[in-house]
Amino acid sequence: MKVFVTGGAGYIGSVCTEELLNAGHQVTVYDNLTEGHRSAVDARAKFIFAKPEVEGDILNAVKSTKPDAIMHFAANALVGESMTNPKKYFHNNFVNALKLADAAVECGVKKFVFSSTCATYGSPEKVPMTEDLPQRPMNPYGESKLMFEKALIWYSQIYKLEFIAFRYFNAAGASEKFGEHHRIESHLIPNVLFVALGKKSQCEIFGTDYPTPDGTCIRDYIHIKDLAQAHMLGLQPGKTGFYNLGNGDGYSVREVISMCEQVTGKKIPAIEKPRRAGDPPRLVASAEKAIRELGWKPQFPKLKDIVETAWTWHKRNPDGYPD
Ligand code: UDP
Repeated sequence: MKVFVTGGAGYIGSVCTEELLNAGHQVTVYDNLTEGHRSAVDARAKFIFAKPEVEGDILNAVKSTKPDAIMHFAANALVGESMTNPKKYFHNNFVNALKLADAAVECGVKKFVFSSTCATYGSPEKVPMTEDLPQRPMNPYGESKLMFEKALIWYSQIYKLEFIAFRYFNAAGASEKFGEHHRIESHLIPNVLFVALGKKSQCEIFGTDYPTPDGTCIRDYIHIKDLAQAHMLGLQPGKTGFYNLGNGDGYSVREVISMCEQVTGKKIPAIEKPRRAGDPPRLVASAEKAIRELGWKPQFPKLKDIVETAWTWHKRNPDGYPD
C-alpha cells in the first residue's frame, strides 16, 4: 500500500515507518521537524517538509501522494506541557488533524489510522481498562485527542472514512535504528536512563502520595515495535473502531527505576518531587479487543525487554539524533 505518515520523523512514527517499509509498503513521511528529526526518517521513505499552518499545505501533500492509507502520528504529546499551553494542543492535535481528515475525504483515502491515547479516559473507574469505559480527560492533551476521535466517528458515518484509532498506553523501547529523542525529554524511562548514562546526576519521582502500593503512579509500558505491528494490522480492510494498545501490566515509577538499575547495572539515585499536574494515578490497558479482532500479538511484553532495547539505543546514541 501507499501510506502517508505524518510525524514519521518522531519517535513512534519513525519506527512505524521502518516496519511499514520492511513489510513492503511505500511510505511518504510528512513532518515539520519541530518534534521530529530528519535523520530519524528511514532513508527508503519519501520526505515532505510539512507546513501545516500554511493554507492548503496538508491537502496538497496528500493530493500529490495519492495514498491508500494515512497514519497520523504528528502531535504534541506532553501531559504536563498541555496543562500550561493548551492552545498548542488544541491547534495541533485537533485543528491540524481535522485538516488531514478533510484531505483524506477529498482524496478518497481508504483508511485513516490515528494515534490516540489512554489519556482520553482520564482517571479510570477500573483497571485493566477496556475501550467502553467513560472518557473524561484530565488534561488538554487527552481532550484534544478525544475531540478528534469524535470527529472521526462522524466522518466515518457521514463521509464513509474508514478509521482505526489506537489508544496508546506508554510507548517505550527502541528498534535497532530508531529510538526516543525528544528535544525536551519529559518521559520517565529516557530520563532514568540518562542517569545511568552519566548525563544526569539523579532522576525525579513526581508524586509519592498516590493511592497505589508504593505511592507512585502506575503505567502500562508497551514496546514501540509492538505498537508498529498493531498499525500494520490496522491497515486490513474492513477493520474500524477504537483499540487500546498496552500489555495489561502496570509498573510504578519506583518499579521502572529499579528495572532500569537492573538492566544497566548502575545505581540510579532518585529524588522525590510533588505530583505533576494532570497525571492520573493508575493507567493499565486491556488490549483484549486488539488481540481478538486484529490478531495482534505483542512480541516484547516484558518491561525488562522494553528497557533493554531503550538502553541499547541510548548507549549507541548518547546524544540522540544529530539534528
Ligand atoms: N514521571 C516521573 N519522573 C519523570 C518523568 C515521569 O516520576 O522524570 C512519572 C509521571 O508523573 C508519570 C509516569 O512517570 O506518572 C510516566 O510519565 P511519562 O511522562 O513517561 O508518560 P505519561 O504517562 O505522562 O504519558
